[in-house]
Amino acid sequence: MYCPFCGETDTKVIDSRLVADGGQVRRRRECLTCKERFTTFETAELLLPKVIKNNGVREPFNEDKLRAGILRAVEKRPISVERIEAAISSIKRRLQATGEREIKSLIIGEQVMLELRDIDHVSFVRFASVYRDFKDLDEFRQEIDRLAEVPRQDNGQ
Ligand SMILES: [Zn+2]
Repeated sequence: MYCPFCGETDTKVIDSRLVADGGQVRRRRECLTCKERFTTFETAELLLPKVIKNNGVREPFNEDKLRAGILRAVEKRPISVERIEAAISSIKRRLQATGEREIKSLIIGEQVMLELRDIDHVSFVRFASVYRDFKDLDEFRQEIDRLAEVPRQDNGQ
């Protein structure tokens, strides 16, 4: 691992801990040459299914897109980055666990809604209203009620 400050290759790990629900390892490193310290995050490369968009187009799973959608929903809400990363980890774990090679984007959206439901109601409603193109308030209400009935997720702990 190159030092981002001086470009030397000799860096040592000075601290290592699990974050994001155990889905990530956070490492503090120190450069042996310039003594600067920096942090790296290590995540296992999961083989995730391709995403089938509403128009039928297939595209690779994009974690940044997933994160951006969630961040938009939780904007200005009192939710830690840790909590969001943990939610992303468990969504990815569940998508991987399906064993499917392709998965509808709708299913991913639903997973996000279920996570947000357990984190913060305001974010959940925000996400649901943006994500689903509801025709009217009744339809929206019904969907919220339906999701409220889905049992609490097993996060694989
Ligand atoms: Zn250095």
